[in-house]
Amino acid sequence: MNVAEIMENRSAFSFEVFPPKTDVGMEKLCGEGGVLDQLYTLNPDYISCTYGAGGTNVGKNLEVLDKIVKDGKCVGVTHFTCIGNTKEGIKEQLNTYLEHGINHMLALRGDLPFGWTGTGGDLHYATELVKFVRQEFGDKFTIAVAGSPEGHIACRSLEADIAFLKQKQDNGADYIMTQLCWDMDQFRYWLDAIRAAGIWLPVDVGIMPILDQAATINMALSRNGCVMPRELCEIISKNWIFPNPFEKEPFDANVEGKKASFKEAGIEYTIRQIDEYRACGINGIHLYALNKYDDVARIAKEAGLLDLI
Ligand code: FAD
Repeated sequence: MNVAEIMENRSAFSFEVFPPKTDVGMEKLCGEGGVLDQLYTLNPDYISCTYGAGGTNVGKNLEVLDKIVKDGKCVGVTHFTCIGNTKEGIKEQLNTYLEHGINHMLALRGDLPFGWTGTGGDLHYATELVKFVRQEFGDKFTIAVAGSPEGHIACRSLEADIAFLKQKQDNGADYIMTQLCWDMDQFRYWLDAIRAAGIWLPVDVGIMPILDQAATINMALSRNGCVMPRELCEIISKNWIFPNPFEKEPFDANVEGKKASFKEAGIEYTIRQIDEYRACGINGIHLYALNKYDDVARIAKEAGLLDLI
């Protein structure tokens, strides 16, 4: 059963990892008893692996997915972008994925590398990528696409963004994976709006565990312009590491204590957010595992995600 079919029958539960840049990182993720082996024990339906801008991390992405496919414990999903890719290059890479047994992809435009103004490739939007993959590969891939409940940071309007999401569905996408969104009222509005627009694809909600102050702020503001609800802002403020959480050598005397209390409050916040999402009638929870196990496993267990299967 492919991931979209799973979500037609019941809620799915999955993880996202990223391809490490070093051999040590690869060993930690893919080695025997490493993070992937540990994540399998939680019985996810799939594990996806991100794809570096300009294809710089593609080698490791393939290695990570090779392990997931070889281990056969869950489906492996590759993220794939238009960045720096010609049509011929896309065909070549996607053929390689298929040869390696990887037949699920998240079709994205991709994050523009710093200083770039376009994709630098033959395709400019995810809509085009979905269409191209269907033209060239028929139904060989199950295709996920990104949805942005707050609107993509560069969209001219939420309505335009929803219209392009509908186009992704019309071009052959199978399910939606959402961008980070902490604003639950906005999420509910968006879910109603996409259904009203005729988008019936399953919605798999992306959740970033709140574990680290700097990473949380960075993820929200460096690219996505996410709204931070008052409760989350309070957690950040109450545990603020002075002079700021990005400082490598903070003068704050209680750095470790604040990191620990931030993480504890963040985990509780993440679990409550998953409860709220599940109450909205979504089709899956996709946890960014951040190549870690312990905290992510605790969230999955306490949120009741292990009982979905
Ligand atoms: P698109 O859907 O193409 O949209 C981009 C912008 O163009 C939007 O503003 C949209 O409104 C507009 N637009 C869309 N179609 C058209 C059209 N036909 N004409 C005019 N305007 C249009 N990035 C990576 O580089 N690697 C990853 O591994 C990765 N993983 C991700 C995983 C998830 C779950 C999500 C949600 C995002 C991920 N991203 C990743 C980030 C993603 O690549 C960025 O958010 C990127 O800026 C937009 O990608 P998209 O596929 O949503 O773009």
